[in-house]
Amino acid sequence: MKLAMIGFGQAGGKIVDRFLDYDDRTNSGIVRAAIAVNSAKADLIGLDNIPQENRVLIGQARVKGHGVGADNELGAEIAEEDIDEVQNAIDSIPTHEVDAFLVVAGMGGGTGSGGAPVLAKHLKRIYTIPVYGLGILPGTDEGGIYTLNAARSFQTFVREVDNLMVFDNDSWRQTGESVEGGYEQINEEIVRRFGILFGAGEVGDGEEVAESVVDSSEIINTLSGGGVSTVGFASEEVDMNTGGGLLSRFTGDDGGDDDLDAANTTNRITSLVRKAALGRLTLPCEIEGTERALLVLSGPSEYLNRKGIERGRKWLEEETGSMEVRGGDYPRDEPEVAAAILLSGVTNVPRIKRLQQVAIEAQDNIDDIQQESEENLEELVEDDEDELEPLF
Ligand code: GDP
Repeated sequence: MKLAMIGFGQAGGKIVDRFLDYDDRTNSGIVRAAIAVNSAKADLIGLDNIPQENRVLIGQARVKGHGVGADNELGAEIAEEDIDEVQNAIDSIPTHEVDAFLVVAGMGGGTGSGGAPVLAKHLKRIYTIPVYGLGILPGTDEGGIYTLNAARSFQTFVREVDNLMVFDNDSWRQTGESVEGGYEQINEEIVRRFGILFGAGEVGDGEEVAESVVDSSEIINTLSGGGVSTVGFASEEVDMNTGGGLLSRFTGDDGGDDDLDAANTTNRITSLVRKAALGRLTLPCEIEGTERALLVLSGPSEYLNRKGIERGRKWLEEETGSMEVRGGDYPRDEPEVAAAILLSGVTNVPRIKRLQQVAIEAQDNIDDIQQESEENLEELVEDDEDELEPLF
């Protein structure tokens, strides 16, 4: 699937930058165009891979290249005012070669949190291809204002995109890591999961065509209907080009026993599917009640088989209760077999309910402090008996 990716704000820009790097490394061909939009000049300069002409600085008149300081209302205003500058950059990409837009942003900050929903709304008005969002939730330790920003941005972003895929920094936080080092690993996890998912169906020239390919229309159909999505992932290392697969090493078999090998391949796939769905999701949630799902099995083609995918699909139907579970394979010359599962239209998400609760508390607290602050300042500045007169 070919995407036009637009990273809004610092997190958004860095993640799209990583996607370009992933595309380069793996030849997946998913990033047809990459743009970064920011109100902070320094963040745009810090990117490695996004071409200079695709880095758009907005809000110069208002914030002079210094960012909006986690004020997402200002982020939204600036995006609206300078949407033409973003559109100019989009005009230079061949949108007729693109299957969908992907707008990426951290929802806890200011520029991306406020700007990404504005851009999504604009794109949906102009283009007929789907507009997807990839929204990053802040860690719970980032504090009230980030939580409040994220809760408000989440509501708006979901409404404006065709589907919002969510990644929760909180469930991926590692203790004892520097924030930057932590983000590097987290961003790698993000591009790997979404890279395999969107890379399915993008078979390059001379590459093997999968037995039952996933094509971009299946990804689009899984995401259509809107709502919120999460992605599960599990992988296992395998030897490349052993012909007989792993079993031959365990049994000393030279790969002659095809039936056993096929059973082994099928079992590996079904257990990977279970691990992916029941393990850590990009947004933790209850998978029962998921509206639609897509299972992508990637790896060397001798380790993929139709039976494994069918079994995995059936199991997912039972677990989710959904009759709309698609599946297919994505042959890649990598020494691992991986299952990536897109769960689309998830609604039982306690993490979002908690986020909203904390956001409301933060909002009340901010209102209280603002009110008290006016009273307190008046008390400080005015003399008790009102005997003093201000100058003017
Ligand atoms: P903006 O530039 O004003 O849009 O704000 P940022 O993108 O800097 O930060 C918004 C939120 O994104 C933060 O609160 C973090 O939760 C998250 N964040 C920042 N940088 C990264 C990153 O590199 N990776 C990930 N996964 N999250 C990030």
